[in-house]
Amino acid sequence: MRIARFSIDGNVSFGVVEGQAERPDTLVVHALAGHPFGPPQPTGETHRLADVRLLTPMLPSKIVAVGRNYAAHAAELGNAVPDVPLTFFKPSTAVIGPTESIAYPPFSSDVQYEAELAVVIGRMCREVPAERVPEVVFGYTCANDVTARDVQQREGQWARAKGFDTSCPLGPWIETDLDPADLAVTCTVNGELRQAGRTSQMVRSVADLVVHISEAMTLLPGDIILTGTPAGVGPLNVGDEVAVSIEGIGTLANKVIKRG
Ligand code: MG
Repeated sequence: MRIARFSIDGNVSFGVVEGQAERPDTLVVHALAGHPFGPPQPTGETHRLADVRLLTPMLPSKIVAVGRNYAAHAAELGNAVPDVPLTFFKPSTAVIGPTESIAYPPFSSDVQYEAELAVVIGRMCREVPAERVPEVVFGYTCANDVTARDVQQREGQWARAKGFDTSCPLGPWIETDLDPADLAVTCTVNGELRQAGRTSQMVRSVADLVVHISEAMTLLPGDIILTGTPAGVGPLNVGDEVAVSIEGIGTLANKVIKRG
């Protein structure tokens, strides 16, 4: 099932997207009452997807991200794969949806894209054992862990480099029926391929990451785990369009604008 969050005529709802992804004119969204966790409750209202505005599919209480989880990406920045997963937070205020733009922050001159598989948590949980991870995962979406690389390199903590407003595009929707073990993850800038990896290249699997993070903290419904980026990261410029595509989910495309 594909769960989107959308607005139409000033109303915001979750909805189930149906139709053929390769034929956008066939796509519709069936509105849901309330939140999408648990059995979906359709309102009976259906819209053409082209008539609604897609929003970020979740408003997470927190985004826990994992660095250097693809060996080739760690190596391209001159880093080793860490012995334990390298985790950091992106704030909830960094999130934007698929129709919003990445606003280039004035304190950086090297903003970069990082295409990543995002895990969406569906249940409050802590200390999740590996065999119970499927019970707490709601689904998966595309993410861009937008990073001010120069700021990351000159500041000891990454809060500003990876936490500025608009640095966490999510979408276009959440796929709830997906095996995350071996999915193609790509990133294009202005249509040109920049990253092409597979989730099977992750150093730690989705299950390993949920176990590791939930050992330390309670995860809430809607929380997001970013699973790291494959090799090929590089710069973005004002005016670019950056698109993250993940096999079985879809494409998240965002423009880059100057911060207003
Ligand atoms: Mg990243």
